[in-house]
Amino acid sequence: MTIKVGVFGAGGRMGTEVANAVSAEPDLDLVAAIDPSYEGIGVEQVTGVSGPTFAVVSDPAAALAAGVEVMVDFTHLDAARANLEFCADNGIHAVVGTSGFTEDEHADIAARFTSSNCLIAPNFAIGAVLMMRFAELAAPHFETAEIIELHHDGKIDSPSGTAIGTAERMARASEAWGPDPVTSQTIPGARGAKGPAGIPIHSVRMRGMTAHQEIILGTAGQTLVIRHDSFDRSSFMPGVVLAVRRIASLPGLTIGLDALLD
Ligand code: NAP
Repeated sequence: MTIKVGVFGAGGRMGTEVANAVSAEPDLDLVAAIDPSYEGIGVEQVTGVSGPTFAVVSDPAAALAAGVEVMVDFTHLDAARANLEFCADNGIHAVVGTSGFTEDEHADIAARFTSSNCLIAPNFAIGAVLMMRFAELAAPHFETAEIIELHHDGKIDSPSGTAIGTAERMARASEAWGPDPVTSQTIPGARGAKGPAGIPIHSVRMRGMTAHQEIILGTAGQTLVIRHDSFDRSSFMPGVVLAVRRIASLPGLTIGLDALLD
């Protein structure tokens, strides 16, 4: 039995990679590709996959016609919100990598997914999942922490979902964060944005980079730096493929890949 998979954002950087990763797995069947920017163009031309020969379309209804069981979404936040509604309303499982969903939105999404399941992961790379876990473990032992996320110059949102997710987990793990000593900023924004628990988050957008994050934690006389680097989008694919295979057995809404890792 194969799982029928569709991709929202099939022509994008991540969507193209997902289409190829899905096509390469014998138990997964790429049957739909949705991306308004590539309407009517063959999926093999848009993504480089060999095998599937249908056209990329803008209307998600094509996913229903193709009998999709799992849709993967790597688009933009507003598009992803609408795509999730479509999946929930039509009983299709959703695996979501698009960044920007806040904890406040999770309850609404969970309430919508009654006949199918949804997994939203701020980062599908195993190293990044571990980085977030290590930061959570370290948090109670330090009073100060700052997060620096660094991404390619095509990333239009900031801060990254990984940075927000990391800060949320650190904030839940400890309430004993020291106050920011800075009382005046000569250039506004020099201290970054204040994330959960006031943990500063700094976003770097730079040509040549892919996806990177550093968490610096400090306490008396010592610092700890936890860093993860994704040098290539292939780093996210084992996590996406794992989520596609397992989503049917994860009722409701799952946040992060942790639940899928032993
Ligand atoms: P991208 O290259 O801009 O790709 C997004 C694609 O989605 C574009 O082709 C876009 O078309 C298309 N799109 C827009 N609206 C759509 C809709 N309603 N239905 C279907 N497709 C639609 O972006 P990316 O670099 O692939 O990143 C996508 C998202 O994934 C971002 O939020 C990024 O932060 C996130 N991300 C997550 C992870 C993770 O591990 N969770 C890893 C990397 C990236 P237009 O360009 O015409 O709008």
